[in-house]
Amino acid sequence: MSTHRLAAVLGKPTAHSLSPIIHNYWFRKHGISGAYIPMDVEDIDLKNLFEIAPKIGFSGFNITAPLKEAAYKLCTRVSETASRAQSVNLVVFSNGDVIGDSTDGYGFLENLQEETGFVSEGQTACIIGAGGAARAIVEGLIARGAKEVRISNRTPARAEAIAATFDGRVRVVEGWPASERFYDGASLIVHATTYGMHGELEGARPWRFPQLDKHVIAADLIYVPLKTVFLEDAEGAGARLVDGLGMLLHQARPCFDAWFDCPVQVDAGLRNEVIRVLNARNSKA
Ligand code: NAP
Repeated sequence: MSTHRLAAVLGKPTAHSLSPIIHNYWFRKHGISGAYIPMDVEDIDLKNLFEIAPKIGFSGFNITAPLKEAAYKLCTRVSETASRAQSVNLVVFSNGDVIGDSTDGYGFLENLQEETGFVSEGQTACIIGAGGAARAIVEGLIARGAKEVRISNRTPARAEAIAATFDGRVRVVEGWPASERFYDGASLIVHATTYGMHGELEGARPWRFPQLDKHVIAADLIYVPLKTVFLEDAEGAGARLVDGLGMLLHQARPCFDAWFDCPVQVDAGLRNEVIRVLNARNSKA
C-alpha cells in the first residue's frame, strides 16, 4: 500500500470545513506525505464506503452532519462518549475494525485548560443550548469531575433528554432565557446554541447575565465571527472570554493522532493560518 496518508471529512456541506486546513497544516509541519479532503456526500452507502476506504489507503474519516448517527451504527467498536451520544465525529480503520469516537468535548475542555487553566473537578458550569455540541460538553465536564452542570434550552425537552443520560449532577432549569439566578456560583458559562452564528440574531437573546465575577469564564462554541454577541455581552458583564476557534483546533488533535500515530499540538502558526482563511472568506462574502 502507498505510504501517502489519507483522511477526509464526510457530510454535507463540507466545502467550508476548516478541517482540511488544520490537518494539512500538521502534514506539512511533521513532514508526513498525506492529504485530507472534504467529501460532500449525503445519500451514500456508508457501509460499502467503510469497507472500501481502508483498502484504498484511507486511515479514517471525520463525520459531520447529517451522517454522524448513521456512521455510529456502522462502527464495530465505539468509545463510551460516542455510545452515550449515539453519534461519532471520528472514524478510524484499524485491523478490520471501524472504531468510532466523538472528540468535541475533549477539544472544548483541552482548549479551556490550555487557555485559562480551567480544571473541571468540583466546578459548577452553566450550559446554554442542548444540541449535539452541548451534550458533548456536558459529558466531558461530568467525566472530569464537575460538581454540577446546569442546562438551559429554548426547547426544555432536549435538555431533559441530555440530563436523563447522566446522574443527578446534571440539572435542567426552567424559563427561557434562564433567570439571572441560573448563573449563581458557576465558574464556567458555555454558549452552545447557534444564536449569533455568522452574525445572525434570530429571536430573543438566549441569556440574561447578572454582573459576573472576573474569574468566571464565558466560552462560546461559535467561531464565525470570533467575537460573538455572547462574548460581547459576557465581557460587558465582567467575565473572562474564550472563543470557539480553540475548540475546533483541539478536537482535531486526537483525530490526527489516531489516524497517523502522530501526536500534534495547536500552535500559533495553526491558529493564524485558520484565522487568515476565515478573514479571506469574510472579505469575499
Ligand atoms: P444543534 O444540535 O443543531 O443544536 C442547536 C442548538 O441551538 C439547540 O439548543 C437549539 O435550541 C439552539 N438554537 C437554535 N436556534 C436558536 C435561536 N434562534 N435561539 C435560541 N436557541 C437556538 O447544533 P450543535 O451541533 O449542538 O451546534 C451548536 C453550536 O456549536 C453551533 O453554533 C456550532 O457551529 C457550534 N459548534 C462549534 C464547534 C467548535 O469546534 N467550535 C463544534 C461543534 C459545534 P432548540 O433545541 O430549542 O432548537
